[in-house]
Parts: sequence; structure tokens; C-alpha cells
Amino acid sequence: MDFVFAGLPVRSGTRRQVSLPAGRLPSGTELTLPIEVLHGTRQGPTLWLSGAIHGDEIVGVEIIRRVLGHVDERRLAGTLIAVPVVNVFGFVAESRYLPDRRDLNRSFPGSARGPLASRLARLFVDQVLRVSDVGIDFHAGSDDRTNLPQIRGNLDDPETRRLAYAFAPPLVVHSSTIKGTLRETALKEGKRVLLFEGGEPRRFSPDAVEAGVAGALRAMHALGMTDELGAPPASNPAESRTTSWVRAPKGGIFRLTVTLGERIDQGALLGIISGPAGRGGREVRSKVAGMVMGYAVNPLVHQGDGLVHIAELEP
Ligand SMILES: [Zn+2]
Repeated sequence: MDFVFAGLPVRSGTRRQVSLPAGRLPSGTELTLPIEVLHGTRQGPTLWLSGAIHGDEIVGVEIIRRVLGHVDERRLAGTLIAVPVVNVFGFVAESRYLPDRRDLNRSFPGSARGPLASRLARLFVDQVLRVSDVGIDFHAGSDDRTNLPQIRGNLDDPETRRLAYAFAPPLVVHSSTIKGTLRETALKEGKRVLLFEGGEPRRFSPDAVEAGVAGALRAMHALGMTDELGAPPASNPAESRTTSWVRAPKGGIFRLTVTLGERIDQGALLGIISGPAGRGGREVRSKVAGMVMGYAVNPLVHQGDGLVHIAELEP
């Protein structure tokens, strides 16, 4: 049977590109959401993959491109809806936000008569979310931050937990939803969502791309959509339910002494803040044991800036 996407039929065993009109730039140029719909030959769930909801978090764009190269629609069970760039306005401006500085991921479920971000959110909800069963939403660190590849989701839901562990990034994090996010709206609509975080904005961080591609393919296998299990994960994911930022005790230049994914003890040295010539060095230590899940890549810090993001690990 055909899958109908945005009013267009996608035949069994085929893929089709669909461009959804998202609005016009002041120049009159029309912007569209490029979407690939792959409709399989066997029964199965409908999965969406979304990238660049924050326009400068482009790691998901590359992950989705590579996943599309791995999936054969003639052997697929169910349907894959790939939306590599959701925030097309932020993407062309290399910005997290919409032109009016609104955050698309605080604008869900959106409204057809609201501001641009709200309209774009509504378009995604109506055309993609409503016809899907489950989604993977790809993000990277915001501003000058980098993230360990990780899945965030409601780990208290057994099926979400199963999919997160099948994805098998280095870290899975239980997190409650934030108002206005795609994930909050999706959960209200009865959909399951894995939120992937990895790498830096405006970069194809190699570790994040690899973890994202391999994880998405493993999750598709766990959903029964593909037969190939793909590459096994390097290790079982660590799990966290409590995360916190270690902040700069003073302004200065921060020299980081830990790496992403490193396990640290309580009181471990994370780095040293000093003046430009090295005077006045002050050690920054972690109050808790855990795993380094993110850090600020810009060494120039003000008092109170988040320096290192620590995940406290479940036993
Ligand atoms: Zn994001």
C-alpha cells in the first residue's frame, strides 16, 4: 500500500523527496523543508529523523544523510521520514534561532497564525509528527559547547529505555521535558522520542556523527525496520539521572584537563583558570563523581560560566 505524505503517495519499496513550503525570505526566495520519505515493502512503524531544529546544530544533517545511504527501502519494514533541516531559516543564517531570535524548540506545538517559529513548529507537527510513531531528534551542544554523544529521553518508559539502549551511545540520560519542545509535544501526542546530543554547533564532529549513524541504525533494527544489526557498540551505555554544570569561580582563561566521556572521582581536577600570563591559577574541581558529558570549548570564561557538564552515573 502507498504511504501518503503531505498528500503525496509514496509507493511501497520506493523513496521520494518532498519539499514542504516553509515561507519566504525578505528577498522573495522561497524556503522549503527538504524531506526524504522511504516507504518499505513490509509492515512496520513510521520513524522520523529530524536535524537542525536549532539551525546551527548541523551534526544531525550529516548523520541523517549517512543513514539515508545505509537504508534500502526495498528491504525496509515500515516508513522512514527524514527531515535533515527543520529550522531552514536558522540553517541558512548559521544560527540557532529564527530571524526574530525565537527558539524553534520552545515554539511547539505551534500555530498556523503565530510568529514564524510557531508556524514552522506547526508545519512539522501536522506533516511529520502526526503521521509518525516514534522519532529521533538530533542536536549538538549550544553556543561554544561540545557534548559527548548521548541519548536523552524518558527512561521510565520501558520502550523508550529499550530503544535508547539499542541506540547505545556512550551515555543515556533520563530527562524530563521542557515546555515548548518538540519532545514535549510528541509525548503529548503519544509518540516516543529519543533526543540525541553530540558534538559542537557548526561542525560535523566525527565522534558524534559516527555514534549518531551507528545508533540510529541500531535503533531501526530494534524497531524491526531493518534486518541488519550493524556495528555493535564499543561498550554498554552509562546511565545518568542527575547532571550539573561546574561553573567558573572567576573570570580568566580556562585550561581543561579532562576529555569527553572520562570518568572522574569526587574532587577530580577539571582544569585551571588563570590570567593570560599564567598567574593567579585556580583549580576547578568536581564536587561529584561521574562522567564528563560536555564542556565549553571557548577557553575565555567569565565568572559563573558553565565550564564542564558532569553526569552522575547510576550504579
Ligand atoms: Zn539543540
